[in-house]
Amino acid sequence: MPIANQMIKMVEGMEMVKKMFEEGARLKAEHGPDKVFDFSLGNPDVPPPPEFKQVLKELLADESLGHGYTPNTGYPHVRQAVADYLSSVHDLKLTPDCIIMTVGAAGALNDALNAVIDPGEEILVPAPYFIGYDHYAFIARATLKTVPTDGNFHLDTAAIASAITDKTRVMLINSPNNPTGAVYSAAELAVLGRVLDDASQKFGRRIYLVADEPYRKIAYDVEVPSVFQAYANSIIVTSYSKELSLAGERIGFLAVNPKAEDAGLVASAAAVINTMLCVNAPSLLQQAVARLQGITVDVSIYRRRRDLLCQGLSEIGYDFHVPEGAFYLFPKSPLADDVKFSGILKEELILAVPGVGFGGPGYFRLSYAVPDSTISGSLEGFKRAFEKV
Ligand code: PLP
Repeated sequence: MPIANQMIKMVEGMEMVKKMFEEGARLKAEHGPDKVFDFSLGNPDVPPPPEFKQVLKELLADESLGHGYTPNTGYPHVRQAVADYLSSVHDLKLTPDCIIMTVGAAGALNDALNAVIDPGEEILVPAPYFIGYDHYAFIARATLKTVPTDGNFHLDTAAIASAITDKTRVMLINSPNNPTGAVYSAAELAVLGRVLDDASQKFGRRIYLVADEPYRKIAYDVEVPSVFQAYANSIIVTSYSKELSLAGERIGFLAVNPKAEDAGLVASAAAVINTMLCVNAPSLLQQAVARLQGITVDVSIYRRRRDLLCQGLSEIGYDFHVPEGAFYLFPKSPLADDVKFSGILKEELILAVPGVGFGGPGYFRLSYAVPDSTISGSLEGFKRAFEKV
């Protein structure tokens, strides 16, 4: 074999994603980009807040700005700024040694998972879940095990309690959720915390709660509660990809709950992995985000699009839960076969992602990180596809 056996399936998986993008590009070239309604990408199109460019200008005007390696965990002043901001959000004293600046939330996930998981251990994730988790589990040589959510895509804590085994090392949650838009409440996180405490005791080994929160600031009229308040052995992984629309700039961080047992050791392990995987997070971006704590994109744009899409689809007859956060809608497929229905949508030049890839067969995902005109222009096609089946 020219490549590692374990990579063959991964490459095939990536080929399918690549084909999906190529097919989208082909349709746009054939019909014109404005005739194709592409809801397939979670790439934020809302511009970064104006403060971002201003901060970049200030940084670039500073003759002393360096471009060398930074400390592997990030500049101390940047980690201090993040720690101060998180202290106010989580009502808890965080210090810079709890924080590691990373290459996006993906970098933070790789650091967190590799810091606490031994090969063969299990990551438990509520389904539907973000596709990238298969890859992060692969890198950590862990088994990704799914547990169903309830009828509203919220946590089914009884199902979680019975899915935990003596191999479970990490409970991985994502709220606001990609692909469902669910935001877990303080009450359900509190129950989850108790379930994880009980299970840690029962199996005599610590279970970590890893909370993937890149959409924390994109929530509509609901609070995104603190996981640090719900469970001590928790780690937050996140980025500025969505809240500042900086996905391509690759900047994020990991925060270890200061109340976690051996918090310093967990952070040190994550720091070592960070050094091995990426050396350090981008220097310029670290310095930029330090000055942008608490600043967010204009979330009202996503809210307007959510409302436009929900209203249009509900008038046609589609069945879905109104997203509480993030910028995805996860409607029920009118055909049990979501891949087939996504094909029917494609005939209408609408690009959606079948739910099966997210561990949610029978549904499909629409990203509304798209112009309003894409939403309004697509509704006739959604209607024809609905009527066809
Ligand atoms: N986690 C979730 C749920 C995501 O949707 C994404 C990206 O779409 C990531 C992690 C990765 O984020 P980043 O681009 O900051 O690495």
